Amino acid sequence: MVQTLRDQLPSSGSGGRGWVPPGTLPDPRPPDEADVVVVGGGVLGWSVAYWLKVLEGQRRHGMKVLVVERDPMYSRASTVLSAGGIRQQFSLRENIQMSRFSASFLRDINEHLGVPNEPPIDIQFQPSGYLFLASPQQAAALEATVQLQREEGAQVALLSPTQLKMKFPWMNTEDVAVASYGLEDEGWFDPWTLLNAFRRKAISLGVQSCSGEVRAFVISANHMMPPGQLSARIKYVHVHMPDSIEYQPVACAIVVNAAGAWAGKLLEAEGLPRALCRPPLPIQPRKRYVFTWHCPNGPGLSCPFLVDTSGAYFRRDGFAGNYLGGMSPPEEEEPDPSDLSVDHDYFQEQIWPRLAQRVPAFESLRVGGSWAGYYDYNTFDQNGVLGPHPRLENMFLAAGFSGHGLQHAPAAGRAVAELLVKGRYETLDLRRLGWDRLVDGEPLKEQGVV
Ligand SMILES: Cc1cc2nc3c(=O)[nH]c(=O)nc-3n(C[C@H](O)[C@H](O)[C@H](O)COP(=O)(O)OP(=O)(O)OC[C@H]3O[C@@H](n4cnc5c(N)ncnc54)[C@H](O)[C@@H]3O)c2cc1C
Repeated sequence: MVQTLRDQLPSSGSGGRGWVPPGTLPDPRPPDEADVVVVGGGVLGWSVAYWLKVLEGQRRHGMKVLVVERDPMYSRASTVLSAGGIRQQFSLRENIQMSRFSASFLRDINEHLGVPNEPPIDIQFQPSGYLFLASPQQAAALEATVQLQREEGAQVALLSPTQLKMKFPWMNTEDVAVASYGLEDEGWFDPWTLLNAFRRKAISLGVQSCSGEVRAFVISANHMMPPGQLSARIKYVHVHMPDSIEYQPVACAIVVNAAGAWAGKLLEAEGLPRALCRPPLPIQPRKRYVFTWHCPNGPGLSCPFLVDTSGAYFRRDGFAGNYLGGMSPPEEEEPDPSDLSVDHDYFQEQIWPRLAQRVPAFESLRVGGSWAGYYDYNTFDQNGVLGPHPRLENMFLAAGFSGHGLQHAPAAGRAVAELLVKGRYETLDLRRLGWDRLVDGEPLKEQGVV
């Protein structure tokens, strides 16, 4: 059973050293103690922190939530390097439900994340349907997922090749059997604005943040467990200061692992015996490229967020004949993730031919810029892992969304906060996304990973 925060608070709520009251500037140094330490200040970490404050009811001496982020410039964070897309078209019920929650949250973002006396939030939402194309071999699976999406209330149309050609005359539909097209709640937005809005609102509600890297934990073993069933609690998180050998131990009741692509690595930190971290958390960084190009005679304003039968994707990027896109490589051709350099040949040799096959006008595109970012890749089943760790009793996971974590952050953050504050999921039942499936070896596959 999940213990709630109320059962576990180490502090009286009077405030430890360095605790910053709501509305003041964040202290870059960590405090001595916090009720909840969120490791990772990406969109998921800040979403959890925000929802914790919302759900506790914003009492004056509420829980102390600390977000620890090692990279204040977010130079490698997945959130800011993402393509910014949101769609309803997933194959797993929970992912569709999270997308529906997030779309509604984003629509009313100023009601949720607006801060008094601050400018309104504009996430620059560009409404535009995702268009998934299916070959004859892919058609049945696509039609089945659309059925599920409709059951969940998503507005998705199935288009025949003739309908497709009428709506998007610039497209080669020769090898397409059917396509699914999102009619509402799909498009893209600015990821940094969403991250910053969560962060700003959470800080205004009293969440504290600090710069530093969590490199070690101090645990105490639970001796009440039957022999062979190891378990422990984290008592301290060691936050290492930037460019220093100094570290600050932070006493805590709960740790939220929102370390994104590095969530698996966090469980290899000093102080965590290997035997406690079995099975290992299968989340690792996988490098993905995004390329931009210019094509004045391309699809133009009617361009959807198109996902090709080949796996290549593209969307409009602004209004001046600019586009962006990419493609995940097959497993055996994964690029070396040790840095974020871009392989330009990958565009020339792999992506461009597929784009030009689908959109003949792209034959004459001119490549602009490019960047690489890390998918927070769950190698087990490409879905988020949420909820308590089976052996580290007070560690909760919010990571591993494998390329769809930006759009699911509002829902996933709320779900984890519900587990912590209420002891159960209330808004969406996300139990199937828990650790049990890793222990049982039962993947919960998402077919719509782009
Ligand atoms: C090219 C690309 C395109 C994408 N497109 C989309 C899209 O269209 N739609 C969508 O929904 N998603 C998309 N994604 C995926 C999405 O960006 C991620 O799923 C999401 O941003 C994950 O958020 P996060 O907060 O878990 O991770 P991050 O944003 O990476 O944040 C994790 C943070 O944890 C910090 N950290 C790690 N370890 C430690 C530690 N030990 N101590 C302190 N701090 C630590 C890191 O510095 C990092 O800032 C895309 C990703 C990429 C790379």
